[in-house]
Amino acid sequence: MKNHPKNRWQDSVAKTLDPVARLVYRSNLIGQDPTLTNTGGGNTSSKITEKDPLTNQDTEVLWVKGSGGDLRTAKRDGFSSLYMEKLKGLQKNYLGSKTNGPKTQIEDDMVGAYAHCTFNLNPRPSSIDTPLHGFVPARHVDHTHPNAAISLAACAKGKELTKEIYGDEVIWTDWQRPGFDLGLILEKLCKDHPKAKGAIMGQHGLINWHEDDKKCYELTLELVGRAAEAIEKKDRGEKTFGGEKYKSPSEKERKALWLSILPWLRGKVSAQQWMIGTVQEDATILRFVNSKDAPRLAEMGTSCPDHFLRTKIKPLYVPWDPATGDVAKLRGLLEEGLEVYRADYKKYYEKCKRKDSPAMRDPNPTVVLIPGLGMVAWGKSKSESRVTAEFYNCAVEVMRGAEALGGYINLPQQEAFDIEYWQLEEAKLRRMPPEQELARQVIAVVGAGSGIGKETAHRLAREGASIVCVDLNQKAAHETSAELVKKLGEGIGVAGTGISGCGPAIGLGANIVDRKSVAEMLGEAVYAYGGIDGVVVTAGIFVPPDLEGRIPDEKWAQTFAINVTGSYVVADEANKIFKAQGLPASLVLTTSVNAVVAKKGSLAYDTSKAAANHLVRELAIELSPLVRVNAVAPATVVQGSAMFPRDRVMASLAKYKIPFSEKEGDEELRTRLAEFYAKRTLTQSPITPADQAEAAFLLVSGKRFPRTTGQVVHVDGGLADGFLR
Ligand SMILES: [Zn+2]
Repeated sequence: MKNHPKNRWQDSVAKTLDPVARLVYRSNLIGQDPTLTNTGGGNTSSKITEKDPLTNQDTEVLWVKGSGGDLRTAKRDGFSSLYMEKLKGLQKNYLGSKTNGPKTQIEDDMVGAYAHCTFNLNPRPSSIDTPLHGFVPARHVDHTHPNAAISLAACAKGKELTKEIYGDEVIWTDWQRPGFDLGLILEKLCKDHPKAKGAIMGQHGLINWHEDDKKCYELTLELVGRAAEAIEKKDRGEKTFGGEKYKSPSEKERKALWLSILPWLRGKVSAQQWMIGTVQEDATILRFVNSKDAPRLAEMGTSCPDHFLRTKIKPLYVPWDPATGDVAKLRGLLEEGLEVYRADYKKYYEKCKRKDSPAMRDPNPTVVLIPGLGMVAWGKSKSESRVTAEFYNCAVEVMRGAEALGGYINLPQQEAFDIEYWQLEEAKLRRMPPEQELARQVIAVVGAGSGIGKETAHRLAREGASIVCVDLNQKAAHETSAELVKKLGEGIGVAGTGISGCGPAIGLGANIVDRKSVAEMLGEAVYAYGGIDGVVVTAGIFVPPDLEGRIPDEKWAQTFAINVTGSYVVADEANKIFKAQGLPASLVLTTSVNAVVAKKGSLAYDTSKAAANHLVRELAIELSPLVRVNAVAPATVVQGSAMFPRDRVMASLAKYKIPFSEKEGDEELRTRLAEFYAKRTLTQSPITPADQAEAAFLLVSGKRFPRTTGQVVHVDGGLADGFLR
C-alpha cells in the first residue's frame, strides 16, 4: 500500500558487512523510503564493541548518524563515534548542575562536550539527538520522522491513540525540544516500561529499539505500518480536508498561470534576499490547496521541528478562485497576503524573542499555496527549495492523517520559535561557508552545447549559479547540463513537478531565430527555477564564402538572423521576465573582434558582428536601468569551437601557407592554427574558450562591473588592429 513502508533488507548483502557498514546499510534503507522519513530527518545508531586504540582493550562505542547529511545518502563518514562510557559520564556533569533542564544553558553546553567523547579521532560532529541514542539501553536504535507516525504525534488525541494502536509496546512522550534532557526522559521511559519497544514523541516522530539490527529495522517498518493502517481505517476519502472547494484548471492552463506569476512572485519574495523556486502541483498538493480546510490548516503551520527552519512558522495561502482565471486578482491577493505575512512574522518574532535571540530573519514566506495551482517553495538554492517543498508535502500528509485520526494540532508558537531561533542553530548557520558569488542566481547560457558556451556554463556553475544550458542541438545542451549535475551533485530534497524537480542545471533546446522557441525555452527555465537573472548568448554562425569567394544571399540572411536578430530576440524575451521580477539582471552577448577589423573572406560574418556590437549599445539603453548589457568579443578561439570545423581549419592553414598533412588529426591541425594566430597577438599565447568564459563571468556577475553597461570587451590576445577608437 502507498503509505506503508516496504521491507528492503537483504540478508545476502547484510551478511557481507562489518557492524558499522550494517548500520550505514540500515540507515540508507530507511532513508530511501519516503514513508519512513524525510530528507535530513531522523537518525540511527548501533552500540558496537571496538578495540580502543589507546588501550588495546575492548570498549563500547556508540555509532550514531552525525550532524548534517541525510539517512538516504549517508556513508560511514556521516556517522560520529563516541565512547559510551564517556557519553554516559556526562550525565553526572549535567545532573550535578543546579540549573539543568530543557532549554537551559547547560543543556546546550552538553553538545560541545560530545566532541570530548569522540572515539578514534572521528571528525564527524555529533548531532543534537546523540543522547536519545546513547541513553536508550538497547543496542540498535532508529529515530525516524514518518508521516504516519507524526500524524499520530500531531493529533489532538495522540496520547490515547498511541495506547489504542500499540498497547504497552509503544509509549507516548510529550513534546520536548530535542537535547540532553530528552535523552534522559527516554532512558527513564525504558526503565519504567521494560517491555516497551519504542515511543511516539509528541509533535515530533518515532523512536524504537532492538538488540538485533535487522529486527530493529523491521520493527520501524511494523510500527509505521500500524500507524498508517489506523489512518486508513479512518480516512475521510472525499471529505479529506473538509472536501473540495475549488477545481483545478487543466495541466496546460495551470502551467500558463504559473508562468504568468512566477517571475513577479519571485521578485516579491526576494525583496530581502534572492530565492530560487520549486513548483509542486501533483494530485496530493492540489487536493490540499483546493480544499475547504486549507486556509485553516495552512495557518497552523507545519508540526515536525526540523521543518520550521525551511518552511517557516506557516505558509502563505491566498484565497483565489481559480474558476475566475483572473491573474490580476491573483496578484492583488498575493500582494496583500505578502504584506500581512510579513507583519505576522514580525509580530511572532517580537512576541517570542528572548534576551539573546538572534536578529529577525527574512520575513518573507518560503511556501506559497494557491488554490487551483498548487505550491511554490523558495530557498537559497535549487536543492534548498526542493527540501522546503518536500517538507510541506510531508506536512500535508501529516495533516491528512492527523485530521482523519481526530484533529491536527500545531506546536505552540514559542516552541516553534525556540527551534527556529535556537542559539545552536544560529551557530550552525554562522559556521556555514560564505555564499558563492553567483549563489541564488539563475543564468541561461545560449550556445552551451559546445566551445565557449559550454566552458561558460561550467565557469558560472563553479560560482554557484543555477545554469540553464541552451543549444540548438538539444542533445548537446543535455550533455552539458548532465556534466554539471554530475560535478555538483543533485543536492538533497525530493520534490518538484516535472522539470521543477531538477538539480543545479537543466538542458533545453531552442532555436534563437524563432521567437516562439525562445519564449518556450525561457518558460521552461522559469518553471524550473522560478525566474532568471542573467543570460549569456554565445551562439553564432560563421559561413565561409563559396569557391568563388562569394556569400550566397540566403547565407547572408542566415548569418544576420543568428548573429544579430537571434541575440535581439533572446534579449527581448528575457527582458519580459527581468521586468516582471524587478530584480537587477544582466545580459552578455558575444560579438567578435572582426566587428571592427575589416577582412577578406568573412564579409557577412564581420558585418553581422559589427551590427551585434551596436545591438549591445542599443539594448543597454533600452533595457536600463534594470538590466546591464555587455559583450565579449573573442578572436580566433580555435580550441573546441564549432565554428572551426576541420575544413575551415585546413582552408585557413592553406591561406596562411602553413604546411600540414591531411593525415593529421583535428586537434593537431587546430593546435597548429591556434599557435599561428597566437603569434599575431601582443600576448603571444593561444586564446582559449576559458579566456572567454572568464570574461563572460565577470560581465554577467552583478558584483564585478556593476556600473558597466553598453560595452564590448575584447578577449583577443591583444590585436592592435582591433583596438577600439
Ligand atoms: Zn527527530
